[in-house]
Amino acid sequence: MNGFRADLHCHSTYSDGTFTPDQLIQHAVNKGLQGLSITDHDTVEAYKTAFSLSQKAGLQLIPGVEFSTTHNDDSIHLLAYAFVPTHPSIVGLCAQHAVRRNERNEEILENLAMLHMPISKKELFCIAGENLEERSVGRPHIALAMIKKGYVSSIQEAFKKYLGEGRPAYAKGRIISSRETIEIIHEAKGLAVIAHPHLIENQKTLKDLLQMSFDGIECYYANFQIDTNARWIKLAKKKNWLATGGSDFHGTVKPAIELGASWVNQEIFHILSNHYRTHAIL
Ligand code: AMP
Ligand code: ZN
Ligand code: FE
Ligand code: FE
Repeated sequence: MNGFRADLHCHSTYSDGTFTPDQLIQHAVNKGLQGLSITDHDTVEAYKTAFSLSQKAGLQLIPGVEFSTTHNDDSIHLLAYAFVPTHPSIVGLCAQHAVRRNERNEEILENLAMLHMPISKKELFCIAGENLEERSVGRPHIALAMIKKGYVSSIQEAFKKYLGEGRPAYAKGRIISSRETIEIIHEAKGLAVIAHPHLIENQKTLKDLLQMSFDGIECYYANFQIDTNARWIKLAKKKNWLATGGSDFHGTVKPAIELGASWVNQEIFHILSNHYRTHAIL
């Protein structure tokens, strides 16, 4: 199909990426991509400016976000696409996440203090940047603050020793379920997609998710093997779900993954953009 490529999974400085929406859009054009969705963790702030920027750059853009959810006590990431970014249900869910993240970050900082690695909120906010009320601050920012204080030498080490699930500074935070998140995505006229399904270790959880009212599953992901793609594509066909994909680009904090390392073709992108035009833009 005519070389069209769209990356449907990447993060900006509104969450834990290092490129601003403007830089992401420019980078996408430089990489020869024709379509993009910016999928920040739990925030749609990028879309306040991204549409006009993408139009100027001649890049097709559809709204996206990656929500943190929980099912069976497992952390599950859900992607939403082609929703109304200003819909009260989406705005309300993002606001709930901002409160959840603030509480959880405080809990993690308390845990680190008990482990004799104090980081003040001010030090964390120095790392996370300006306009904090608009940003999703989380463990990657805490990991960077730990490096700056000399507690660890890499983000990987911070997660492995302290911040990862089950590690001593980990905090789960308030729970927002996968089911209620799907409902909210649908209220906002969007499509709900299971993100990076290969990372779901609990097979009971995966089985439960496959019975929920999703519209798609992420079948193309930057570090998938070809045969891994095939497993999820087969499943998407069986469920009559969209087979989506993207790189999960985060910029310089994850230098091994480049924007456009995974992508979808024009056919899939057109289904999403068509859904957006017919359902979400009234
Ligand atoms: P949070 O949203 O605060 O729970 O942080 C989750 C984010 O941290 C993920 O989306 C990844 O970008 C990043 N992350 C998770 N595990 C690791 C890891 N082991 N090493 C580096 N980054 C990680
Ligand atoms: Zn991330
Ligand atoms: Fe994710
Ligand atoms: Fe992601």
